[in-house]
Amino acid sequence: MKLLVTGSRGLLGSAIRHSVAKLDEQSQFHFVSREDADLLSKKDTFDLFDEVKPDVIIHTAALVGGLGGNMSRPYEYFARNLILNQNVIDASLNSGVQRFIGFLSTCIFPSHANYPLSSGDLHNGPPDDSNFGYAHAKRALDVGLRAAHSQLGLNFDLVTLSNLYGPNDNFDVSNGHVIPSLIHKFYNAITQGGVPEVWGDGSPLREFTFAEDVAKAILAMLSIAPRNESFILSNPQEVTIRDLAFTLDKLLGGKGEIRFLEDRPNGQLRKPSSSEELGELESKIAFTSIQDGLTETVGWFLQNYPHVRGAMNHAQ
Ligand code: GDP
Repeated sequence: MKLLVTGSRGLLGSAIRHSVAKLDEQSQFHFVSREDADLLSKKDTFDLFDEVKPDVIIHTAALVGGLGGNMSRPYEYFARNLILNQNVIDASLNSGVQRFIGFLSTCIFPSHANYPLSSGDLHNGPPDDSNFGYAHAKRALDVGLRAAHSQLGLNFDLVTLSNLYGPNDNFDVSNGHVIPSLIHKFYNAITQGGVPEVWGDGSPLREFTFAEDVAKAILAMLSIAPRNESFILSNPQEVTIRDLAFTLDKLLGGKGEIRFLEDRPNGQLRKPSSSEELGELESKIAFTSIQDGLTETVGWFLQNYPHVRGAMNHAQ
């Protein structure tokens, strides 16, 4: 069995690479990043699939960002993800891929969904205004894979993730997700002197999943038959942005001085999920606690800074 992993330099792709490095059958995995093939080009994507001839595609590549990036560049998040996903589905169909593993996010659900979130509600209402471009492109991946399965028999799993974090994240303070952005902002404040600024009032709740837990779950999933539907995989522990901020400040050696910018957006107030949809996978997963995951991520950041993605932005 040959497996092709896209986005191998990203947060999830690199976590999968790290988990695969501990396996015996590493040679079956082929990891690619944007330096190897431009998935926005149909020709490059088809050439890649012709060369690798994968049986399974684990498609982690996407234009992903936090609240800031999504609000300032909605068209880019919409168009790039739409084109990229379409090229990868088309190339999979063209080269006879047997199983397509793709990823969605709980942030693409309707902004007024019932809680806990249920995959059946994905299309039942508009997404939050703060990320409508990204959300509609990702919803189209769900539609595309269902259609490809129904018409052409492509088997798939769509794994819906909550806010992912871990080593190799994008630490850009303007466009990154909240955990890497805060780590970088707090680091800048502590090393340059200053008070770090957190967006919103700190009250929103989020579920954060350590990327390596997802990587292990994906490898475990390979021994289970494809489901041909989407399902939620998220650490169900909810954390307020306020608690998150103080925990990170402490891990980085700060003095607990944090400014909450109430005129900056809170985004969605919460989006809790449940582990009900994990099915057979539930017994194969152990979620890393947020405390342990943050400790490891901060340790990795301190060891690798400034050679981390998004290191160039020095704002606090
Ligand atoms: P989301 O979970 O999809 O909304 O994405 P984010 O990872 O961007 O998390 C956004 C939440 O963190 C919102 O409640 C923001 O108000 C809060 N937040 C606080 N400071 C920051 C920051 O510096 N960057 C980001 N991205 N979010 C922040």
